[in-house]
Amino acid sequence: MPGHVDYALARRAVIRDFRRGTLTRLDVCDAHPELLRAGRHVGEDAGRACPVCGLENVRLVSYVYGDKLKGANGRCISHERELAKLGATHDEFACYVVEVCLDCSWNHLDRRYLLGRRHAV
Ligand SMILES: [Zn+2]
Repeated sequence: MPGHVDYALARRAVIRDFRRGTLTRLDVCDAHPELLRAGRHVGEDAGRACPVCGLENVRLVSYVYGDKLKGANGRCISHERELAKLGATHDEFACYVVEVCLDCSWNHLDRRYLLGRRHAV
């Protein structure tokens, strides 16, 4: 995928620091109420256990960012259709996928990629 950035390394570093005690639960489980709400209502199941609490209540939430998106800039995507529609009407924008645990509020950036007409296949 174009402009794809995987945050797995950064995520591993945070989890390592948490397990070592350099970071506390307060540091890593600080999901914003809006993110938790989005995770609950429009997020998709991440299909993996939370690295902090171990429960399988991890959701993935997508947000779109782009100067030309106007009202949609920073919007949380609730359906794949919205992405397709934005992709068909804009040249380029970034989609950020965030993982959030609904049980302990762990959250981390999962990946980022670019969408839009410029990247249409
Ligand atoms: Zn958790």
